[in-house]
Amino acid sequence: MSFESLGLSAELLRAVSEQGYNEPTPIQKQAIPVILQGRDIMAGAQTGTGKTAGFTLPLLQHLTTETVNRSPHEVRVLVLTPTRELAAQVAASIETYGRHLPHRSAVIFGGVNINPQIDKLRRGVDVLIATPGRLLDHVQRKTVDLSKVEILVLDEADRMLDMGFIHDIRRILKQIPNKHDRQSLLFSATFSREIKQLADQLLNRPELVEVARRNSTVDLIEQLVHPVDKHRKRELLSHMIGSQYWQQVLVFTRTKHGANRLARQLAQDGLSATAIHGNKSQAARTRALADFKQGSVRVLVATDIAARGLDIDQLPHVVNYELPNVPEDYIHRIGRTGRAGNEGTAISLVSPDERKLLADIERLLKRQIPVQVLEGYERTTVERPSAARNGHDRRPQASRNNHNDRRPKARNGKPAHARRRGRSAAPKQSSRTGYSALADRVFSD
Ligand code: AMP
Repeated sequence: MSFESLGLSAELLRAVSEQGYNEPTPIQKQAIPVILQGRDIMAGAQTGTGKTAGFTLPLLQHLTTETVNRSPHEVRVLVLTPTRELAAQVAASIETYGRHLPHRSAVIFGGVNINPQIDKLRRGVDVLIATPGRLLDHVQRKTVDLSKVEILVLDEADRMLDMGFIHDIRRILKQIPNKHDRQSLLFSATFSREIKQLADQLLNRPELVEVARRNSTVDLIEQLVHPVDKHRKRELLSHMIGSQYWQQVLVFTRTKHGANRLARQLAQDGLSATAIHGNKSQAARTRALADFKQGSVRVLVATDIAARGLDIDQLPHVVNYELPNVPEDYIHRIGRTGRAGNEGTAISLVSPDERKLLADIERLLKRQIPVQVLEGYERTTVERPSAARNGHDRRPQASRNNHNDRRPKARNGKPAHARRRGRSAAPKQSSRTGYSALADRVFSD
C-alpha cells in the first residue's frame, strides 16, 4: 500500500516523499484513513512505529478544511503529551509534514519562560501541542481559547496517567467541546484498566487500531538480560561499551542522582557521557540530546521521564542499568531502539535484588527475556533448569552454597576486565536460556 492510496493531499504527499518514506508503516495504514473520515480512534501503538506521522498527517489535512465564523484565536487541534521532549518532537513533525501547507502551530511546556508562549498564542494558533501543567497555566491566565477545539490528541496516554496527569487532563477536558462535538484520538503503548476508563470518558465509538500485540515489544529489538552483582554493574557497562565499540548508547537509571553519578563515573572511565533528567534545564536537555545525536557524546544516561519522547534515528543500543519499578516503563525504554524498521539491542543489567522487577516485566511481556551470563560475571556454574523452573532449588543447603565462584577479583585497584589479556574483546557468553530456567541458579545466593 502506498501513501497515495491513503487519501492524503498532494502537499502532504510531497512532504512525506521529501522525508524519504516509501510506504506507510502499519499504524499509518490503519489510522490515517480512519482519522480522515473524522472518526475517533484508540490506537495501541508503541513509540518507534511511526505513530506521530499517523496522526499529524491527517490532522494537518483537516486544517485545510475551512470552518465558518472561526476566530483566529481559537485553537483547532490540541495535542497533549506527557513530556516536553515529546511535545517538541510532535511540533517538529508538524513543521516537517506541514511545510507545504499554511498552518500556525505552537508548542508550550513548562520549565521555560511563559511570555513568548503568550505572545505566540495571541498571534493565533491552529495546532497547539502542550504538556498538561503549562497548558492549565495558560487556561488560568486566559491566554488560550480551547472552546472550539475540533480534534484532541492524547499522545502516550499511559505515560500521562503514570505521571499523575489524570486530574489535569480532566480539567482540560472541561475547557474543550464535549466528545460528541469533537474528534478524539488516543495513543497508548499499553492498555491498563485506567486507560480503558479514560478512553470511555474521552472517545466516541472509537475505532480500535492496534499494530503490535498489546504490551508487547517491537520484534526487531533483541532483548537480553545479563545477571551481575549490583556493585559491578558500572564496571561491566564500561567494559561492554569499550570492548564492543558501541558509539551511541542510551542508558537508563532509576533516579536523577543515579544518572548524574553514572555519567560522571563513565566519564572517569574515559567514555564521553552526559546525563539527562527532569532537574536539568530545558536548554541543558536539548544540548545533551543534540550532542548525543551528532556523536560528540557517546553515552546518554537518562531517567524514564527525561527519555520519554526521545527520537533518535537508528539508536542501536539501550541499556537498563537498573530495571524500572513500573514494568510498562521497560517497554517505553526499549522502544528507543529498533525504531522504524531498524534493528536494535536492549540489554538489562540485572542484580539479585531486581529479580522481582524482572519477573513483573516478563509477566507483562508474556515471555521470558533470554539470559546471557557473561564470563567473569557468573555467580555459579550449576545449572538445574527443572528445579529452577519450579522456583525451588531442592539441593541441600551445602550444595546450593557451592557456587564455584570464578569471578575475577580486582587487583592493584584495576577491575578484572582491565587485566584480562588475550581474550576476545567482548565478554563471552557462558550460557543462554530463559530467565526462569536460570534465575534461581544465577541469583541463588
Ligand atoms: P514515531 O513512532 O512516531 O516516534 O516514529 C519513529 C520514527 O519513524 C521517526 O524517526 C519517523 O521519522 C520515522 N517514520 C515515520 N513514518 C515512517 C515511514 N513511513 N517510513 C519510514 N520511517 C518513518
